[in-house]
Amino acid sequence: MSIRRKDCMGEKKLYFIGIDSTPLWIINELKRKYDLSGFEHFANNGILKEMKSTVPPVTSAAWPSIYTGLEPNEHQILEFSKIDSNYNKQLIYYDSSSPRPFWEALASKGFKCLVITPAVFLEDKKMKNVDMITGWPLKPRYSSRELEAQARRFMFDGEPDIGIQLNSGRLSLSKASQLYTKSIRARAKLAQHLISTKEYDMVFVCFTETDRMQHYALSEKDWERTVAPLYVAISDFMNWIFSFSKNNPTKPLLMVASDHGAQPTHHKFLPNSWLVEKGYAELRGDLSGAAKPKLGKSEKGIAKKIKVAISERMASSSMRRKIYDRLPASLQKMGEKFVEENLDQGEASEYLKILETDFDMKNTRAFASVSNGNMGMIWINDKRFSRPAVSAREKGALKKELIAELKGAKSIEKGKLMDNVYDAGKFYRNVTKFIAPDIVFQLTEGYTNDFSHYSKSFFVKPEAARRGDHTMFGIFGMVGMSAQASASMKKSELNLCNIAPTITKYFGIKGQSRNSLI
Ligand SMILES: [Zn+2]
Repeated sequence: MSIRRKDCMGEKKLYFIGIDSTPLWIINELKRKYDLSGFEHFANNGILKEMKSTVPPVTSAAWPSIYTGLEPNEHQILEFSKIDSNYNKQLIYYDSSSPRPFWEALASKGFKCLVITPAVFLEDKKMKNVDMITGWPLKPRYSSRELEAQARRFMFDGEPDIGIQLNSGRLSLSKASQLYTKSIRARAKLAQHLISTKEYDMVFVCFTETDRMQHYALSEKDWERTVAPLYVAISDFMNWIFSFSKNNPTKPLLMVASDHGAQPTHHKFLPNSWLVEKGYAELRGDLSGAAKPKLGKSEKGIAKKIKVAISERMASSSMRRKIYDRLPASLQKMGEKFVEENLDQGEASEYLKILETDFDMKNTRAFASVSNGNMGMIWINDKRFSRPAVSAREKGALKKELIAELKGAKSIEKGKLMDNVYDAGKFYRNVTKFIAPDIVFQLTEGYTNDFSHYSKSFFVKPEAARRGDHTMFGIFGMVGMSAQASASMKKSELNLCNIAPTITKYFGIKGQSRNSLI
């Protein structure tokens, strides 16, 4: 028998605001010129500090860590895709049946939850005590007709789907900023209405527009002009929550967290081109030396093939089928989005996008795949794959050699290219759902990476969607906790995996309270 709602109702309230891709430096820069008093309220009346993201610091891995309190090797989502034994990339998403998110732990004990657009949570499942609007990157779906009607009333329809227009330059950054700000404000208005008309114990509202805007805008000279309005809108929502909570005798706990940070990027490193040049990897004969001068017919053909392959793969996985089957139109859109964002073949692309089938695997000892941000990943082509080129005996030495080579690699400015190079075994122990990378590297400031190939250089200019990219440290803020908890938080390094245990402990649910911050 669960705790009777009557016994616990109203005793505890928690409001949690999630923001995708917010580092402390952006808040500090913007608050000098814009009204970010909502963020400052956290800093002045509680804490607002950096929080460490997952390895790699990507949306698809980091939010599930926030939802479950587990590291990527435990929830087993590494990135938007994983590589299988035949070198094929497959899309993956967080499957909430195991491990379950914090709001389901709360709901099962009778606490009423409102969850609005949690990033990468796409499942349209009904659960008692949870009012849910599903999150990015699909269009929102609603746990009830009533909720859908309310969203319509406040003209909220999810994050605007404008990536394609932004990539092609058909939409200006100013216009994008307006559209993103509008959806943030609509989501906030909807949340305010629901919070003030219904009795919720826990409310989680997640904003993802910031990440999209920053990917396009951060390396612009006047990035503040297009990025600031989004933060001002979120700050206004925070201020509303603060004033709404002020007179509540239960003294609600207020939290804000970001899944990772962000930075402007000026250069892109292509690890596969680097591996080819150093002799660790070989392209198929007909492709070696191939650099695509401009988007030609053949590349359009490649793009189309990728699209078809991805939709086929998406349709073939049972978990994805569960998620996507009911919405064939969105499924198609998702496939296109994936192609566009991860294998961008837009007009600006001057280099060949590497497909798993583009390598001569018999002569490829190591290759990069999956990850395309400030952190990159390299797999050693050993017996976990169908065409291995490295024996178990050779693997250790090869890994050491590669790590040493990468550590010594020079940036365009002839400084260090890598901030860190890790033996990935450290991060992905005991994974069963994906083939773990062998090496993880973290690029120096201003650099991003992807798994393309360009025969002339392993450095290229980032495309429109990669002029800003992720970093390791997001933010965490809290108001309403004890002075003791506040003092200890100020001292310690915070991690995304602290969030779910903090929330469940606050509501008196036993679980992984070992990582709780209160
Ligand atoms: Zn993110």
